[in-house]
Amino acid sequence: MNNNDKKHKKPIIFYYLAALAVLLLLNAIVFPQYLGSTFNEVDYSTFQSMVRSHSVTQAVVENDTVRFIAVDKDGNRSNYKTNIVTNSELSSLLDENGVRYGQDLPEEMSPLLSVLLSWILPLGMMIFFGRMLSRRIGGMNTMSFGKSGAKIYAEDETGKTFADVAGEDEAKDALREIVDFLHNPKKYADIGASLPKGALLVGPPGTGKTLLAKAVAGEAKVPFFSISGSEFVEMFVGMGAAKVRDLFRQAGEKAPCIVFIDEIDTIGKKRGGAIEGGNDEREQTLNQLLTEMDGFDGNKGVVILAATNRPESLDKALLRPGRFDRRIPVELPDMAGREAILKVHAKKVKLEGSVDFNSIARATQGASGAELANIVNEAALRAVRMGRSAVGQEDLEESVEVVIAGYQRKNASISQHEREIVAYHEIGHALVAARQSSSAPVHKITIIPRTSGALGYTMQVDEDERFLMSRDEAFNKIATFTGGRAAEELIFGSVTTGAANDIEQATRLARGMITRYGMSDSFDMTALETVTNQYLGGDTTLACSPETAAKIDAEVVALIRKAHEKAIGILKGDIDKLHELAAYLLEKETITGEEFMRILND
Ligand code: ADP
Ligand code: MG
Ligand code: ZN
Repeated sequence: MNNNDKKHKKPIIFYYLAALAVLLLLNAIVFPQYLGSTFNEVDYSTFQSMVRSHSVTQAVVENDTVRFIAVDKDGNRSNYKTNIVTNSELSSLLDENGVRYGQDLPEEMSPLLSVLLSWILPLGMMIFFGRMLSRRIGGMNTMSFGKSGAKIYAEDETGKTFADVAGEDEAKDALREIVDFLHNPKKYADIGASLPKGALLVGPPGTGKTLLAKAVAGEAKVPFFSISGSEFVEMFVGMGAAKVRDLFRQAGEKAPCIVFIDEIDTIGKKRGGAIEGGNDEREQTLNQLLTEMDGFDGNKGVVILAATNRPESLDKALLRPGRFDRRIPVELPDMAGREAILKVHAKKVKLEGSVDFNSIARATQGASGAELANIVNEAALRAVRMGRSAVGQEDLEESVEVVIAGYQRKNASISQHEREIVAYHEIGHALVAARQSSSAPVHKITIIPRTSGALGYTMQVDEDERFLMSRDEAFNKIATFTGGRAAEELIFGSVTTGAANDIEQATRLARGMITRYGMSDSFDMTALETVTNQYLGGDTTLACSPETAAKIDAEVVALIRKAHEKAIGILKGDIDKLHELAAYLLEKETITGEEFMRILND
């Protein structure tokens, strides 16, 4: 595609130049006398006789010269000039013989050249700059198709295969059937089976949905047409629908092929919301999409894939049988998946002999494929920065923290008193975690500030991946969140803003326990909140009466208070260790989980 693109675009400037050259050449052949400004000088009497013989067609009279054009017997026109000897009879001479004359030659420029300069050149320049501008806006990899002028990304070869997508085995299995269908549509047609026309990839951002769609096209070795829903948003009325029509026309011509609509939620939102004021343009686009999907023959070999991270907002009509009726979840990778993704991306960088990807995978629970790819790249950048020629374990470990918490702010000037507060705060978390059963072991504690604004943090890493949390574990976790603040209170007798993030997380977990996980005594197994977008932060909406809402609030407060008191109790009982560990951390700035456990168990 890239190559095609260049092949198509360069010649356009080339054609303009060629046309210009041809026109100039033509001009020189047809009207040679217009080239240059040479004038044959003749004496005044010759001029007079030429006028009388009617060979002079036009004349320019200046102060003491006459420049004129004359045609000879063979019809050739030439420029002449003569010095005026007597002025008195000149005008009557010209008048009598019907010569047009004036201050300027009426047609000094050839008609062709003047048309060229006044029309074609400006037009050419306008088109040229217009193209440059639109290319700037549209990005390099775009091609315009059809009347709508809309951008459809077309690739003959995506160059991606399932090997590029690590983990996500369930999604790959589901897509393999589509690949097979594209390879051999006849096999399916013969038996009378029609494959679903469309499949919808749903999952959080960065889990490889776009990558998977490309891999399907790459595996099936078919062209890949893609548009992104967000591009429809700024289009003129009617353009969205035209773009959809174009896309399907193109795809129909190139079948078998893949049509991929990324971020389909931007056009596929539920329709008919009078509250929204009715977005006619989006509705038109969506209707056109539905029409096109119904209109084409599923056995032709066009498979439509779409991706979204807010499936709950899609119009039900899109999910009906015969449209995107197959739903393929692309979830965040599990530990094995994370390790596999790290390894896929590590193939692109030089590695030192002994790199333990498993420990990196363990430390990155909840990270998406895109984040893991970023971690590997950050590690490579760090290796370069450190002047090494290969990526080591240390680079990867540091870049995990960079991606989670931002870069180190080595030269941030923090007062000794504040560093003390941060050290006690972090040891508070770690100590509360360590003294409770079934909480994840402490992996690392640091008080080096990060660009994210964190002044320090405690990293806990589970031995194995966890999918469930018991009520006790959830409560212990809340206690761990409150541990930082609890240490500040105990040691300094005052509190700081440093616990803001802990407070937020503790509250979210406590609320969840009561409203969604059925872990409270008063509400039993009642769902009081529902998650509205599971893949984007998991916002919730309350589904209960105001009285219940007030009771929930009271329960949340009580739960957190209980956990907070538990944390204070743990730290009070271990105050010597708190002092010892905080002093050690202050000195070292960063300590490992082993160091922490060694001092704790001394
Ligand atoms: P999505 O479309 O789901 O938001 P993308 O497909 O755009 O995510 O993924 C962004 C990048 O993250 C990919 O280009 C790839 O480098 C990396 N990535 C994500 N998931 C995976 C995966 N499962 N295996 C390998 N790389 C992945
Ligand atoms: Mg994407
Ligand atoms: Zn904290």
